Amino acid sequence: MTSTTYVSPWMSEETQIFRRTVRRFIEKGLAPHQARWGEQGRPDREAWTEAGKTGLLLADVPEEYGGGGGNFAHEAVVVEELARTGLHFGFGIQSIVAHYILAYGSEEHKHRWLPRMARGELVGAIGMTEPDSGSDLQAIRTTARKEGDYYVIDGSKTFITNGGHANLLCLAVRTDATAPGPKALSLLILETQGLKGYRVGRSLRKIGRHAQETCELFFEGVHVPVASRLGPGEGRGLFQMLDQLSYERLSIALGAVVTAEQAIEITTRHVKERKVHGKPLLDLQNTRFQLAQCKTETHIGRVFVDNCIQQLIAGRLDTVTASMAKYWLTECECRVVDACVQLHGGYGYMEEYPIARMWADSRVERIYAGSNEVMKEIIGWSL
Ligand SMILES: Cc1cc2nc3c(=O)[nH]c(=O)nc-3n(C[C@H](O)[C@H](O)[C@H](O)COP(=O)(O)OP(=O)(O)OC[C@H]3O[C@@H](n4cnc5c(N)ncnc54)[C@H](O)[C@@H]3O)c2cc1C
Repeated sequence: MTSTTYVSPWMSEETQIFRRTVRRFIEKGLAPHQARWGEQGRPDREAWTEAGKTGLLLADVPEEYGGGGGNFAHEAVVVEELARTGLHFGFGIQSIVAHYILAYGSEEHKHRWLPRMARGELVGAIGMTEPDSGSDLQAIRTTARKEGDYYVIDGSKTFITNGGHANLLCLAVRTDATAPGPKALSLLILETQGLKGYRVGRSLRKIGRHAQETCELFFEGVHVPVASRLGPGEGRGLFQMLDQLSYERLSIALGAVVTAEQAIEITTRHVKERKVHGKPLLDLQNTRFQLAQCKTETHIGRVFVDNCIQQLIAGRLDTVTASMAKYWLTECECRVVDACVQLHGGYGYMEEYPIARMWADSRVERIYAGSNEVMKEIIGWSL
C-alpha cells in the first residue's frame, strides 16, 4: 500500500514471479503456525528446511554456494512478504550471517557453510551483544585465547536472536587482550551442535515478536579451530561488523516501511467500517488528517528505502545512508503504527487485533542493530 501509481523501481517481472512463490509459501507454510510459534517462543525447526526448499533462504547468495543467485531485490521481496504478514521468526539473521561468510570467509568456509544454510540445515545466529556491551561493541569481553591451532572461548552473550535453535553462530570475540578496542576484536564461526563448553541459557520473554527466539549464550573453555576465524588476520572484527551492519539496517528499514504501509491499510479499512456518532470514523477530519500524514510520511519513506535498495544493488550504499534509513524509517514506523492504534480506539489495544501486535513488534526496531541514537552519532560523524 502506497501511492496508487508508485511501483518500486527495483522490481522486475522476474522478482514479481518470485514474489508470488514467496507469498504463497508464507501464506500456506508459515502464517498458519504463527500463533503456536508465538506460544512456544520459536518457530518449528522444519520451517527452516521448508523455507530452504522454496528458495526463501539466501536468495541473494551466488548459486555456486547454494544460494538463489539473485541480488538484494530478491532478498527485499522476502523481507517485504514476511513483514506484510507480520511474521517475525529470525529469518533476517540467516541472511546476515550468510553475508558475513560471503564477504569475509575463505572459499572453504563458503562451500562448507552456505549451501547448508541455504537448505535450512544450518540456522544462523549472530553473537555481538553482552550484558555489559550493547551499543559499545569495543567493550566486548568474551575472549578467544589462541592455543596451538585452536581458540579457547570464555564469556557470554545476551539478546541473541535464534540463539536456542541456531547451530551456526557468528561470534564477536576479543582475540587480543592488550590491543586498543577497534583492533582487539575478531569474528569466529562456530558450529554449535555438540560443542563442548557451549551452553544456551534462558529464552528471554519479550513484549513483542514472540515467535522470534531471544537467548543468552555461555562459553566455558569452548575450543574452535583457528581456521574458523573470518578474515585473514585477527583484529578485523569491528570493521567487519560496521561494514556488514548496513545490510542488516537496510533490511530493518525496509521491514519498517512495509509495516507502516500495512498499518495504514488495515486502519483505513477499520475507520471506514467503524461508526461514531452514526457516521464512519473516516468522516471526521482528524481521522483523515492523521491518515493523510501517515500516508505521506510512509510514502516518503518508501521512496527513500527504494533508493537505498538500488544503491545496495549497485554496490554503492554507504554506512551513513544506511544509518539514516534505519533511524528515520523505524521512527516513522513507530509514529504511524501508534497513530493507527489510536484510531482503532480500545480495539487497538487488544492482542487479537493485528495493529496491537504491530505496535508491540515494531518497538524494538528503534533499539537493535545499533540503536537510533547510535545511528544519529554515525550520521553526525559525517558532518
Ligand atoms: C529482541 C532483540 C533481539 C536482539 N538480537 C540480537 C542478536 O541477534 N545479536 C546481538 O548481538 N544482539 C542482539 N540484540 C541486542 C541489541 O543489538 C542491543 O540491545 C542494542 O545494540 C542496544 O544495546 P544495549 O541493549 O546494551 O543498550 P545500551 O547500549 O545500554 O543503550 C542504552 C541507551 O543508551 C543509548 N546510547 C548508547 N550509546 C549511545 C551514544 N553513543 N549516544 C547516545 N546514546 C547512546 C542507547 O541508544 C539506548 O537508548 C537484540 C536485542 C533485542 C531487544
